[in-house]
Amino acid sequence: MKLLVTGGAGFIGSNFIRHLLHAHPDDRVVNLDKLTYAGNPANLADVEGDPRYSFVHGDICDAKCVRDAARNVDAVVNFAACTHVDRSLVEPDEFLRTDVSGVFTLAGGRARPQDPAPAARQHDEVYGSIAHGSSTEQDPLHPSNPYSASKAGGDLLALSYWHTHGVPVVITRSSNNFGPYQYPEKVVPLFVTNALDHAPLPLYGDGRNVRDWLYVLDNCAAIDLVLRRGRDGEIYNIGGGHEVENIVLTREILRLTARPDTLIRPVADRPGHDRRYSVDSTKIRQLGWAPRHPFASALETTVRWYQEHETWWRPLKSGEFRAWYERQYGNR
Ligand code: NAD
Repeated sequence: MKLLVTGGAGFIGSNFIRHLLHAHPDDRVVNLDKLTYAGNPANLADVEGDPRYSFVHGDICDAKCVRDAARNVDAVVNFAACTHVDRSLVEPDEFLRTDVSGVFTLAGGRARPQDPAPAARQHDEVYGSIAHGSSTEQDPLHPSNPYSASKAGGDLLALSYWHTHGVPVVITRSSNNFGPYQYPEKVVPLFVTNALDHAPLPLYGDGRNVRDWLYVLDNCAAIDLVLRRGRDGEIYNIGGGHEVENIVLTREILRLTARPDTLIRPVADRPGHDRRYSVDSTKIRQLGWAPRHPFASALETTVRWYQEHETWWRPLKSGEFRAWYERQYGNR
């Protein structure tokens, strides 16, 4: 296959490209990425010289750029998005632009697509909080912040292009990912790198919010499977099946980095913070997928990766990041 991967310089996208080149030696990949603060060419430094890989610097909202990059590809896999809930609370405009209008452009935009490439898209948190049980693909969407609302918008727009224009779309909705190359604003790399620096870990509210953690390589394998074997117009949940309270995750990170629990600093909760996410993955399991990385060992591998890749994350935690961190946690 020749694939256009959008947002491939980010966390999941870069892991996905590495997975593809390893799992499918005959595949070729074009990576289209705007290189926002979260996009980092260093995430793919090891594949840069690979003749099967090429990079295009561009925006998924730019129709001409998308058309040129998508020429002769068999499928598009979209990871390009604004992805941080906290940032969506203060600067939602860019979320709407990329996560809704960007999907609109990728799906074909104003022109009725003549020869649409199949597309797989990643959406999350769209079901909203769930107190008991797990959300299935049929459940109504209750996004509760600008991030998840814009993702839900993109999700429904993509499906509408399947229904009206026959653009062959498959959607994945995964739970929270963790692993190597995750921008250190997200909780796992933020807490690991803060702990390594003996800095406080700012924990929201009572720390009892629950997330279902999924190792990024398990998500990549699931997306790959859905791309090749998923049914057009269908949605597939991808859950790690390992639910943990934030406080438990935090203590585990401190244990793995050999730092004391006194580094935990409770801070005022995120407004509208969803209490619990849980997705039912029965449907993708029926396609033959199951997570292969147990949470405990995957977290240990992840912590070790950040310990051994200080030269990767240290530069990311300066400049714009420091200013954002101060605004975000300074007076909380
Ligand atoms: P990320 O923030 O690490 O990477 C996003 C990438 O998109 C960056 O490389 C950025 O430069 C690029 N980008 C942003 N706007 C763009 C634009 N307009 N045009 C082209 N490129 C642009 O995000 P991630 O964590 O890798 O998430 C990838 C996708 O998976 C997103 O759709 C996200 O909502 C979804 N998702 C993430 C998680 C998670 O836990 N990280 C869970 C479920 C779903």
